[in-house]
Amino acid sequence: MRSSQKKIGLLILSVLVLPVLFFTVFEIGSLRQNEKVIQDIYRNQLDAILFSINQYSDDVVSSLASRIDISMNNYWQDAGPELNKLIHEMPAVTGLLQFDPNYECLLSYPESSRDPALCAGIKASLVSADSTIRRLQTYMRGGYRKIETVGNPGRDMQWIVFLTRLDDRDIINVLILDPGKFISQVLDPKIQEIARGKFHIVAYRAGDKEPFYSTDKQQSTGNVSEKRPFWFLKDYTMGIVLKEMTIADLARERIRRNLLLIGLMDVILLLGAWLIYRNIARQIELTQLKSDFISGVSHEIRTPLALISMYIETLEMGRVKGAEKVREYYTVILNETTRLSSMVNRILSFSQIESNKRKYLFSDTRINEVVENASLTFRYTLENKGFIYSFEPDVNLPAISADREALTDAFVNLIDNAIKYSAEHKNIAVRTGKSDGYAYFEVEDQGIGISERDQKYIFDKFYRVTEKNLAHRVKGSGLGLAIVKHIVDAHHGKIELISKQGSGSRFRLLFPVKTT
Ligand code: ADP
Repeated sequence: MRSSQKKIGLLILSVLVLPVLFFTVFEIGSLRQNEKVIQDIYRNQLDAILFSINQYSDDVVSSLASRIDISMNNYWQDAGPELNKLIHEMPAVTGLLQFDPNYECLLSYPESSRDPALCAGIKASLVSADSTIRRLQTYMRGGYRKIETVGNPGRDMQWIVFLTRLDDRDIINVLILDPGKFISQVLDPKIQEIARGKFHIVAYRAGDKEPFYSTDKQQSTGNVSEKRPFWFLKDYTMGIVLKEMTIADLARERIRRNLLLIGLMDVILLLGAWLIYRNIARQIELTQLKSDFISGVSHEIRTPLALISMYIETLEMGRVKGAEKVREYYTVILNETTRLSSMVNRILSFSQIESNKRKYLFSDTRINEVVENASLTFRYTLENKGFIYSFEPDVNLPAISADREALTDAFVNLIDNAIKYSAEHKNIAVRTGKSDGYAYFEVEDQGIGISERDQKYIFDKFYRVTEKNLAHRVKGSGLGLAIVKHIVDAHHGKIELISKQGSGSRFRLLFPVKTT
């Protein structure tokens, strides 16, 4: 039996446990990789957000450029009021200067922004950005307008260049823009909308550690890892961070959750494997017990049958002399027949229980009466075997609803065991009493007792204690207590067992007292 259990253990180990372990190791290994992929995805998402802010700034300036274009084409020299209005509407734009293709200053809006030094400064920048201007012209001819930044007038000023085509002439427009104002006044509503409480978006001036613009003044800005430059705001960068957690936090949280899930799954699978193993091992044990039972029972039936036939033969041949001897022979035959029939009864009773055919007839029953009647049948055996038997009834015991025959069965089984498993101290005490809404009878012996481990199993069918070897010598089927348990369960009662190896056992069967 041990070796088949080992084989099944190994089978479960190789079929269930090993793949689980392999899967766990593989999953943990790939977890880091997965997290890196997730981090990349998040990063790309943040990148896309920053890209959309740049796209929006481009759109704002392009739309202003288009409106300037339209005014100029409509009015040219008289476009002044219209252009002044446009510039005035955009808070971050402080002026618009127009140059001819030779970079000569033509006009400026508002007029007050015309400053020779400014004109000269821009002209110098345009000259040095000549190739950029040529490129803008090429784009223009291709029907596409591009916006560029030229020069480096300082942190608070940007020169944004775009071209307008007027009567086959290219006018070079230079917008004077305050980048700080552009971000915090023109772009702000859009950035707030994009951040939508989920992201924290900031903007930095070159050389500054702290951002000058932030969507959320409360949040610390120490851990902004995603930063991108503004396309045409030189020396200005923007940064983005997830509001509640950083990406690393998020990834760590996911790793933790996944590890927890894997751990939980492993525990469940291992528990399942263990339960399967236990179940199969139990079945194997049961099969073994059954086969022990069959050989035990065959032996138990054969022995009395052999004795009976031998005694009858001897009697028949008239070889037994003297009435005393004849009576002794008849007693042996009677005892063996009783043993045989009780064995057969037990097997029948058990098979009825197993096939759910045992019917119980409940009626008002007095436990004291059941015990007294049953004890009449084995009193003689007890005395014969040298037992001291005592019965202490509780005379005020209320009646219970029970099947009298079944109760007798249970009681006889307990007495039978008390007799079988007593060694030198042959004392059996039977008591009845009440406890917490139950009426009970109990059988106490001073026999070999039952170990704590065996107490868990003795009510299982076919189970017999083998270690002490007394059970080997004592004949039995391993069915008695299984029958007792079934009877008690059918009565909604309970069994209490107190036993100590070497000192004896007390089995108490409790039955609910009728409440009405
Ligand atoms: P059996 O036919 O073997 O007596 P039971 O189901 O009646 O079958 O009992 C199961 C096992 O419980 C017995 O084999 C014995 O080891 C143990 N047992 C039962 N009653 C007692 C008792 N009074 N004292 C010691 N051991 C007992």
